[in-house]
Amino acid sequence: MAVFFFITINWKMSNKRIRLGRPSSKNWDHFKEGPKRNTTHKTAICNYCAKDVLGVSEQMINHLCECENADVDVQEAFQKVKTNNKNIKEANKKKNSNNL
Ligand SMILES: [Zn+2]
Repeated sequence: MAVFFFITINWKMSNKRIRLGRPSSKNWDHFKEGPKRNTTHKTAICNYCAKDVLGVSEQMINHLCECENADVDVQEAFQKVKTNNKNIKEANKKKNSNNL
């Protein structure tokens, strides 16, 4: 019984973490999965221009911001994501330097 309870809590927590995490699944709405590049990352093939980039969110977002064939809406949306990520990074940097 206790074990079942523990698993349920764990499952709930990991579910929450996925939902609160980076919107990686959104990136993949604009890319097709290509072959694996290494043990952890796949190739991401752009739906708009068929260019391939490494399937990590940073590179995918960077590409969508400057993809010539992507809709302006898509470019703008991902430019916002990029700015947000930058702000988060800078906020973390500040936090870290305050700790020193
Ligand atoms: Zn593209």
